[in-house]
Amino acid sequence: MLSTLRSWFTRPAPEFDPAWESILREKYAHWSILDTDELARMRMLTARFIADNDWEAAQGMKITTEVQVLIAAQASMLLLGLEIDEFFDVTSIIVHTSTVRLRGTRRSAAGTMSDGVQHLAGQATPKGPVVLSWSAVKRGALRPDAGENVTYHEFAHRLDMLDGITDGTPPLGSDEATTRWAAICTPAFERVQTGDSVLRNYAATNIAEFFAVATEAFLNRPDVLVVHEPDLYAQLRSFYGQDPAARLSRTTIA
Ligand SMILES: [Zn+2]
Repeated sequence: MLSTLRSWFTRPAPEFDPAWESILREKYAHWSILDTDELARMRMLTARFIADNDWEAAQGMKITTEVQVLIAAQASMLLLGLEIDEFFDVTSIIVHTSTVRLRGTRRSAAGTMSDGVQHLAGQATPKGPVVLSWSAVKRGALRPDAGENVTYHEFAHRLDMLDGITDGTPPLGSDEATTRWAAICTPAFERVQTGDSVLRNYAATNIAEFFAVATEAFLNRPDVLVVHEPDLYAQLRSFYGQDPAARLSRTTIA
């Protein structure tokens, strides 16, 4: 699958600072439901993400340890079950205090175009920096039940972009897998467009947004997605190499 993109060289792993643990326990709800093996991999990925990226503050923001740790851990959640340890083309993270204000043209979920300053929770462009709103990052980490997570969303876009095309289909390794992916995702995307879906309406914007929003639901509301979109859930479970619904039920029962 993504193993062809694996780094060919080995580097000493950056250290996970034990002080980060209390930040994650307190402010990242998913951290407390990971098992021992998952935690070990997440600590490695989080430390590597922090070390590998340039961190830039915007709009009076200050890059603190908490900012780096919360963004790195949430981005790493997408890599948890993948065969890669990094997002490759991502080298820079820009963090704004609240909404990210960008000038440009944007198409809404309803299909209307608008010009001017956009207020966004985040933005991911191919090979560019990932831009995030700190208030949205914090909210997403603490409240998975709210469904939205800007960090999952923007880094899902970056996985989608790994093959050079932003089309809602990350690299899957074979034409057969890509055909199977389309056979599941296309009707699920059509259900969002007709309002017959548990995914939030923004998923109807285009197929790339569909994948990013579906990723948020897969990690945040897996118990809902597995019931209402079982085929889509199974595709995402297969791609991401993790089963958040099983993890959630294991935690709930325990
Ligand atoms: Zn998006």
